[in-house]
Amino acid sequence: MPNYNRSRRVAVAGGAGFLGSHLIDRLIDRGDEVVCIDNLFTGDKANIAHLRNHPRFEFIRHDVCFPLYIEADEIYNLACPASPIHYQHDPVQTTKVSVLGAINLLGLAKRLRCKIFQASTSEVYGDPVLHPQTEEYWGNVNPIGIRSCYDEGKRCAETLFFDYRRQHHLSIKVARIFNTYGPRMHPGDGRVVSNFIIQALRGEPITLYGDGSQTRSFCYYEDLIEGFLRLMDTADDIVGPINLGNPVEFTIRELAEQVIELTGSASRIVAHPRPQDDPMQRKPDIGKAQRTLDWEPKVPLRDGLIKTIAYFDALLSSG
Ligand code: NAD
Ligand code: UDP
Ligand code: UDP
Repeated sequence: MPNYNRSRRVAVAGGAGFLGSHLIDRLIDRGDEVVCIDNLFTGDKANIAHLRNHPRFEFIRHDVCFPLYIEADEIYNLACPASPIHYQHDPVQTTKVSVLGAINLLGLAKRLRCKIFQASTSEVYGDPVLHPQTEEYWGNVNPIGIRSCYDEGKRCAETLFFDYRRQHHLSIKVARIFNTYGPRMHPGDGRVVSNFIIQALRGEPITLYGDGSQTRSFCYYEDLIEGFLRLMDTADDIVGPINLGNPVEFTIRELAEQVIELTGSASRIVAHPRPQDDPMQRKPDIGKAQRTLDWEPKVPLRDGLIKTIAYFDALLSSG
């Protein structure tokens, strides 16, 4: 018998990753059916293990570089390695995931005539000369450097989203995500928050790249996911791109000091060379998100770090 009262079915590509799995938890909590699509390149089944037998959850192991024929009412595209170590591991594949993945998921949305969300990134601004970054800023991106596979791949994906809207009248939602952290970050992905916490918990040296004067603005995942859901639920004429992130800016040295304090670690800070094309400063202007979504982050860095430290502490203790 057809089920005419079925819940909304949401497809989440990249759903076994850090952000994707938290998004799925929120969707399941509000009563949606979820189809998680992931090739487990950087994601982990452990992030979705608690949903394995859930009646409204389904997992499909699939690489979004290849076409996919499923049914859904909404699509979120988060499929892409996000940390520099992971996306530089196989840079050609990174561009393919961003570009071919976007084309296939946009093709899917076109066939289904459904809304589609793109997890874009602050990296589209490159090493910005405008500070803080507004959505109108076109960025300062090196097209041939070691970060380009990610930055240019994500820029091309944005182009595809806007061309599918202009050409095929798709309903699109493009979020530009700034550095986000929290439980379920991959412990080996080399991102600064997970690196510093793990080093501090193990009593190993804290690897500060450069003199630590470069800045980032760190958003706790709960705040970010709330922004995703609000953006997805806006009217068709709200398409973005829209910055989602925490505008409170810290130097990387301040982050290292705060992690040492909160873990009570005896670790020392040790300087290493700064990676090529490492952006010097990054901080979102979130005025558009405040006005359009009535959204702003609520979790201060200190509170988010305490929860993230507890997560990694448990992970390391479990072996
Ligand atoms: P993550 O690496 O934990 O998640 C990415 C997921 O995509 C993983 O589960 C991975 O297995 C999956 N994936 C990769 N290639 C795939 C492919 N070809 N087919 C299917 N699945 C594939 O990273 P995250 O931090 O959760 O990031 C999620 C998204 O948000 C990414 O698109 C990333 O670019 C974007 N983003 C994240 C941040 C952040 O600070 N966390 C900042 C900006 C943008
Ligand atoms: N596609 C898909 N699932 C669908 C519909 C399309 O994976 O349900 C893929 C399809 O393989 C195609 C891509 O999405 O390569 C783009 O689709 P579109 O219809 O825009 O382009 P076309 O098929 O005309 O090349
Ligand atoms: N960083 C650092 N030590 C580390 C990892 C990163 O000093 O062990 C610095 C890195 O050079 C960058 C910042 O922290 O300036 C954020 O790096 P991450 O890889 O987390 O994200 P992204 O550069 O993409 O913002």
